[in-house]
Amino acid sequence: MTSTQARHTRRAVLQAAVDAGARCATADPDLFFRGDDELDTDWQARRSEAIRICTGCPMRAACEELALRNGEGEADTDELVRAGLTGPELAAARDRQAVRLAAATAADRDTEGQELDRLVAELRSEAITSPDSARYGTVRSTALRTAAQTDRLRTLAAQIRQIRTARRTRTGWGVAA
Ligand code: SF4
Repeated sequence: MTSTQARHTRRAVLQAAVDAGARCATADPDLFFRGDDELDTDWQARRSEAIRICTGCPMRAACEELALRNGEGEADTDELVRAGLTGPELAAARDRQAVRLAAATAADRDTEGQELDRLVAELRSEAITSPDSARYGTVRSTALRTAAQTDRLRTLAAQIRQIRTARRTRTGWGVAA
């Protein structure tokens, strides 16, 4: 693998690592987010507990890099904990690593764009393929072949929707935009 390819696959590697070993996977997700109108004292107690969980998490470095790539945390808003850091701490870390993160984010988007193109092409191909084609040749029943193709079309459409939603959200567009 070239260094460029490695850079382009890093996001997926980081996400897989966090998914596999996140210490918060068994914790209450609400612990990591401040509630609407939550009092400072209440939030500070929960925030400390969230930071304590992160402190012992083996995926902390990967989690921090993902959070920074995703643009999480704002300088003037203390409402979440990620990788043991508060929102303002994440924002400060993002400022310190701005150049490196800009390159990483560009690589992430490039990779996503390629994946989106591939999925759209596969969806179009699948949509004009007969369920009787060799692709589903091992399934005997026509009904089952049709069901398998419908499942595949649904999966592809969901994957495309997920990538498009993430890209729109990052650029400030809502889901329905
Ligand atoms: S560092 Fe904290 S938020 Fe990140 S995966 Fe670990 S426990 Fe979860």
